[in-house]
Amino acid sequence: MTLPEFRLLRPSNLSEVFAARRAYPGARLLAGGTDLVANLRHGIGRAPALIDITAVPGLGDIAEELSSLRIGAAVTLERLSNDPLIALHAPALAQAARQIAGPAHRTLATLGGNLCLDTRCIYYNQSAWWRQSNGFCLKYRGERCHVAPEGNRCRAAYSGDTAPALLALGATVELGDGTETGWVDLESMFQEDGAAHLRLGDSQVLLGVRVPIRSGLLAAYEKARLRGAMDFPLAGVAVALRREEDRLADLRIAVTGTNSRPVLLKDCEALVGRSIDEKALQQIDSLVQRQVKPMRTTLTPAHSRRRMAAALAVRLARRLWGR
Ligand SMILES: Cc1cc2nc3c(=O)[nH]c(=O)nc-3n(C[C@H](O)[C@H](O)[C@H](O)COP(=O)(O)OP(=O)(O)OC[C@H]3O[C@@H](n4cnc5c(N)ncnc54)[C@H](O)[C@@H]3O)c2cc1C
Ligand code: SF4
Repeated sequence: MTLPEFRLLRPSNLSEVFAARRAYPGARLLAGGTDLVANLRHGIGRAPALIDITAVPGLGDIAEELSSLRIGAAVTLERLSNDPLIALHAPALAQAARQIAGPAHRTLATLGGNLCLDTRCIYYNQSAWWRQSNGFCLKYRGERCHVAPEGNRCRAAYSGDTAPALLALGATVELGDGTETGWVDLESMFQEDGAAHLRLGDSQVLLGVRVPIRSGLLAAYEKARLRGAMDFPLAGVAVALRREEDRLADLRIAVTGTNSRPVLLKDCEALVGRSIDEKALQQIDSLVQRQVKPMRTTLTPAHSRRRMAAALAVRLARRLWGR
């Protein structure tokens, strides 16, 4: 459980961050460290250097732009939970941030670290000796997946809470690698592979998130967890909808805790133009149950997590529609 040796670098601007990445191949970015440091202590991964990005100017800012909110990657979860601009334009994001870890973690933990959180599994988030006694596993140092031994990929679950809220709100992310910087849909940052769920290049850094400000859009996030005070989601769901009179004008639903990536549900537009009655709620239930794929990565059975995700989506849709 002791930390391995590494160099700790604390660049004071972005050029120094990219220079440090070039100078130390295999270095890891360090934000709040609440996920990365715990994993290093468990002997999960090694890095010649950690590059602390929290002193880089601009990464800790929240600003209202023309029709969007720009949130720096190093904004802490505590700030997200309490910031007046977030409360006004993206309350679902504040709800998600408030439900992450405990209050002390949230003072350090950042939005960028939460989006780039490693995937989780009962066979992986264990001490090194525990994993070694099991022959490690396919994700790291082993040859076999204990969850799906017949398969050839890791099924560990993505369990970040802010990603579904941001997906439902239609957020984009800014990525930079020292030579070019650009905005892409948040959804495209992830892929369905528990051992490589982030589609970020070795030198890429998540710089910030942009959330469009849409009038009339109502959104909320809820999660199911074993310990109410502090726990990762067994399933977490964000719903965003816009109602015009008795007609649904927009619907987006995103789920975390079930797949190796946060899932933005497809085919929600089939419900647009209708009202959210019991039949529509049943359709939402089956959209979720068909598209999420929890595996045996927690002690709670996979089928219960699928049903939890569907129940949360139905509850949120009913509540937002009734507002
Ligand atoms: C007891 C406990 C309970 C927890 N409960 C929850 C929970 O309920 N929900 C939840 O979502 N999380 C939970 N977490 C995990 C973690 O605290 C949060 O996800 C937190 O937001 C991670 O942010 P961080 O800044 O500390 O990330 P770090 O640990 O610093 O980094 C996490 C990963 O992101 C990478 N990274 C960080 N910033 C960037 C960037 N800008 N660009 C590219 N890569 C980057 C790092 O290299 C690392 O791989 C919990 C942790 C603990 C210890
Ligand atoms: S899903 Fe399989 S490969 Fe992935 S962490 Fe769990 S046991 Fe390891």
